[in-house]
Amino acid sequence: MDFFRLLSRGTKLDNSEAFAKNDKVVEDEDKITRSLDFFHTHSLPDPDVCEKKQKKKSEPESHEPVIPYRKSKITGPDVPHPITTFQDLANRFQVSESLISRIKFPAPTQIQSEAIPGFLHDRDILASAPTGSGKTLAYVLPIAHILQTQKQNTTNGIKALILVPTKELAVQVLEAFTILTRGSTTFKAKVLTKSLLARLTSETGAKAGDVLIATPLRLVRALAVLDFDSLRHLVLDEADKLFDHAFAPQTDDILAHLRGRTLQKTFLSATLPSSIETLALNLMTAPLRILISPGQAAATVTQKLTYAGSEAGKLLAIRQMLKTGELTPPVLIFVQSVERANALFHELVYDGVNVDVIHGERTETQRRAVVQRFKKAEVWVLICTDVLARGIDVHGVNLVINYDVPQSAQAYIHRIGRTGRAGKQGKAVTFFTKDDVENVKIVINVMKESGCVVEEWMMRLGKVDKKTKKQLKRKPVERDNISTQPRKRTRKNHSKEKTNGTELSAKEE
Ligand code: ADP
Ligand code: MG
Repeated sequence: MDFFRLLSRGTKLDNSEAFAKNDKVVEDEDKITRSLDFFHTHSLPDPDVCEKKQKKKSEPESHEPVIPYRKSKITGPDVPHPITTFQDLANRFQVSESLISRIKFPAPTQIQSEAIPGFLHDRDILASAPTGSGKTLAYVLPIAHILQTQKQNTTNGIKALILVPTKELAVQVLEAFTILTRGSTTFKAKVLTKSLLARLTSETGAKAGDVLIATPLRLVRALAVLDFDSLRHLVLDEADKLFDHAFAPQTDDILAHLRGRTLQKTFLSATLPSSIETLALNLMTAPLRILISPGQAAATVTQKLTYAGSEAGKLLAIRQMLKTGELTPPVLIFVQSVERANALFHELVYDGVNVDVIHGERTETQRRAVVQRFKKAEVWVLICTDVLARGIDVHGVNLVINYDVPQSAQAYIHRIGRTGRAGKQGKAVTFFTKDDVENVKIVINVMKESGCVVEEWMMRLGKVDKKTKKQLKRKPVERDNISTQPRKRTRKNHSKEKTNGTELSAKEE
């Protein structure tokens, strides 16, 4: 079917209606399952009553589209009982009241309920849970407890190593430790910054901290000088990213360096493709496998797909959104390359938008400053590459725009997962043009799996085969320049895009 011709007549695809129904489900207390209610904002109904009510209700409403419940599956030998309150940690694991008092949340999320007892029982954990569902605390809290209660924290060695794909995420994980342990002197968490790396390699006796949070490329450079003799815990946050082709060489080197040590391992992500899961499970001993709506977009994000016709059409669409007030800050705009990020920045800054840009070619200081300014609402619209797609938690991001269709389902799920976090609602809009024949199918499939009611033409689109998926991931779509003045792709431009245009890589970390 020539759906691009159909769309070029101006059809706009919108799943907001479908999501209005989704929202209704979330509000409808008796339909909430334990697994969907990540933040326990709804009290759980008695299952019998719930079943009876649902049966009664379902009769007259049977014509309504069924919105699938989020599923969870916890497997492995001797699955520990989940905690239902943070206070359970004091009773069952002797976690100190002072540590528990630092947690400002009313109840654990589902991933926290299941993973924290697993961690404290010294189990290897492979966990998949949606973006924004609180995976960080699921490992920061048990590490903090273990290190605070350890008798001798006197050795200089690293006790817990946390690997993440970007510097911004490393800083964020450190902040989570700081919130929990401010004032405590029992252990120190550090990010492997450029200056720490320099000190470690030049000064004798420089300390890496009891908890070291690092990105792969930098950690590889420090392996030779780090002391891992006391290492007991290894966390791979955004594990699938750390194992994919862009990071695999560094991650491999790190794991090879740690081989032979008895470690408790925790690997987490919102997306764990089966190949990565198999690889991860091979590295673990009797793991606890916690799968909470694996591979699905967060249910709190309203997803919309907009046909923009051409590159110039995308720019016009953004300007239109500015005019109509649809672009309510804070907004994140994802593009596929550094060049495109800079080009879009120059267009929007010219329009007087309070905008900034972040990508792997800005310095570490600039990147930190931009994220801080965005967090403080001094920047309203932040243009970024996939460097911000993973893990970043900015409160209240209202809207994510995929100016360029992402290159994989995982990239899509993580990008749109920058909104709709911690139980809040969010919106995501993806622009596509006739150049996006294949990769838009990937987005549509995620939308279908997330329970969006999709249009007839979307239903008829097939899936993308594995080979094409691989190609799309490695080589971005060729696009005309970002400008309202249509310019043709030049060989020079294209070769520039090719070097910078792949999904987040270790080079950009
Ligand atoms: P994930 O890693 O799953 O994407 P994060 O760990 O970044 O999610 O947490 C997302 C947001 O949820 C953060 O702002 C965090 O403070 C908040 N959060 C964490 N745990 C809870 C909880 N138990 N209840 C409510 N909010 C929480
Ligand atoms: Mg996270």
